[in-house]
Amino acid sequence: AAMREENIKKTKTVCTYCGVGCSFDVWTKDRKILKVEPQIEAPANGISTCVKGKFGWDYVNSEERLTKPLIREGDAFREAEWEEALELIAGKFIEANKTYGPDSMAFISSSKCTNEESYLMQKLARGVVGTNNVDNCSRYCQTPATMGLFRTVGYGGDSGSITDIEQSELVLIVGSNTSESHPVLATRVKRSHKLKGQKLIVADLRKHEMADRSDLFIQPKPGTDLVWLSAVTKYIVDQGWEDERFLKNRVNGLDEYKKSLEPFTMDYAACVTGVKKETLIQLAEHIHQAKTTCVLWAMGVTQHMGGSDTSTAISNLLLITGNYGKPGAGSYPLRGHNNVQGASDFGSMPDRFPGYERVADDNVRSKYEKSWGVKIPSEPGLNNHEMVAGIHNGKVKMMYLKGEDMGLVDSNINYVHSAFEKLDFFVVQDIFLSKTAEFADVVLPASPSLEKEGTFTNTERRIQRLYQALEPLGESKPDWKIIMDIANRLGADWQYDHPGDIMAEAASLSPLYTGVSYERLEGYKSLQWPVAKDGVDSPLLFIDEFPFPDGKAQLFPVEWTKPLEFAEEYDLHVNNGRLLEHFHEGNMTYKSKGITSKTPEVFLEVSPELAEERELEDGTLVRLTSPYGSVKVKCLVTDRVKGKEVYLPMNDSGEGAINYLTGSHADKDTDTPAYKEISATMDILKEK
Ligand code: SF4
Repeated sequence: AAMREENIKKTKTVCTYCGVGCSFDVWTKDRKILKVEPQIEAPANGISTCVKGKFGWDYVNSEERLTKPLIREGDAFREAEWEEALELIAGKFIEANKTYGPDSMAFISSSKCTNEESYLMQKLARGVVGTNNVDNCSRYCQTPATMGLFRTVGYGGDSGSITDIEQSELVLIVGSNTSESHPVLATRVKRSHKLKGQKLIVADLRKHEMADRSDLFIQPKPGTDLVWLSAVTKYIVDQGWEDERFLKNRVNGLDEYKKSLEPFTMDYAACVTGVKKETLIQLAEHIHQAKTTCVLWAMGVTQHMGGSDTSTAISNLLLITGNYGKPGAGSYPLRGHNNVQGASDFGSMPDRFPGYERVADDNVRSKYEKSWGVKIPSEPGLNNHEMVAGIHNGKVKMMYLKGEDMGLVDSNINYVHSAFEKLDFFVVQDIFLSKTAEFADVVLPASPSLEKEGTFTNTERRIQRLYQALEPLGESKPDWKIIMDIANRLGADWQYDHPGDIMAEAASLSPLYTGVSYERLEGYKSLQWPVAKDGVDSPLLFIDEFPFPDGKAQLFPVEWTKPLEFAEEYDLHVNNGRLLEHFHEGNMTYKSKGITSKTPEVFLEVSPELAEERELEDGTLVRLTSPYGSVKVKCLVTDRVKGKEVYLPMNDSGEGAINYLTGSHADKDTDTPAYKEISATMDILKEK
């Protein structure tokens, strides 16, 4: 037995899928993954994992992994040596910089990569090339939530921890399919609801599992959340149920905010949202009766033209009811990817340095300029959305993108593909030849989380280390090494031996991470930002003050933005979201046998009413057509959806990929695509 165990290695890692941030030991023998073993000391999950964390790892050994750099030759790629690929890239960077200037280049970081890699990507853009054109895919999901929180409470992250959600008397879930998107966190809510008498209220278009379990479920019309949220808040104020002491001592802007609520009467809300007035009053009463309320929200809120404003309305409601800065309360925008929080935290944003310090702030900029020995432009750069437009209008000539399948996950992908085709030079760094990589001039093979070290930050701002379980496959390399190679070929002299060195640099520059070090994150230890010099971290934010000059939060008036209207023929509203077993376009989970053996194929959920009207059955093949494109998909008849609302999971990368349908309209404050505002026509196809 001892002999047999000899080559078995046990490595602590952090899940590479969702933002819950489960950590566990992975047992490997050579490249074989033997098992995933959660440990009681894992801070976010203890001994739990979901199906993805447990079985979703075979992709690391997929035959489709990229193992050598690829260089385009005509319509095909040929394999190349690193030296040749990196030389080519450096040459093109230098040429573009000379001919068109630094702002002709754009950089996209990845929420699948580590904090250290996101730090380096923005350092490459700002500190080596000299542009702020750097962004990451939180632009596609949670930037509006971050905006809503910046405006009101000052920090763009969950205000407490998963344990606060667990202890809360009332959990209100808005636009989040929590049990499929954040399974382990949902389990905590289910347990508290069942065993501890926690109240659960769900607002969603779709009657998903959490809705089924809830004490109160409301199904507002698409895109009307801001209206009922504001009406409930107004009702609370009108009844004199606001937290007067909290508002007096800790919050600014009450009078102006109260005035802004005037239009949001219960009658108006009932008319706009289709939810009965009595039900909304009941909802307000529940919040009033609970000593502590947590609001959880996700893409059902953020992916609208008014996504930032609705997120703001949630935070306003929490401020009015004094639900910040105490255990069991607060705002919880649930982060989708494992490191979508960290990708923004570490500065891969066009207007923010690591720790969300502003690029436009002269003092902050000069701190980075001194440290990096460069000049950094004071103007914010382009975000993802603006980069695509920038390529179309000829301003952006070159793009370096890592770990992001923008050609599938951005909205209106026909438009994105035509942008990629216009680029002078396109570098894609990934573990697979993604849809996006098909458009590249050079593809660089990267290593996934099991093949490198680094840190991820989960939805509760918790920074956790992952250790290397496997050697990089073939000639693939960790992203941080590749970025460093490119930077050094462009004249930088980066000498990081280990991701710990990169974290040390970030901690020396960004006040959010002052006390973060790899030693303090050893093994299962973790830290929730902000972290003070002595290593004291912040499981619960805003206990004494909000990070504004006078320490007070800000009520922020918002107005309702009507969802985009479509021509009459587009008579079906297309909602979209996740499936439990798959992750996004599925480029990892579809390559994991442990998962594919368990999964249903992607289907379009249609309501029994619609099925009857159009003679649809389970398995009927239909084509949905929006003004932007079309998809082909099979139907599943279910009462999870109602009337003319249909639901298409986002986990298809082929003819059913949702973003052939979505448009380029976006949240007006952050440019996050309004994925949830799309309508389509339906044709029944005869073929099977
Ligand atoms: Fe991974 Fe999220 Fe599942 Fe946890 S809940 S195992 S982090 S996918």
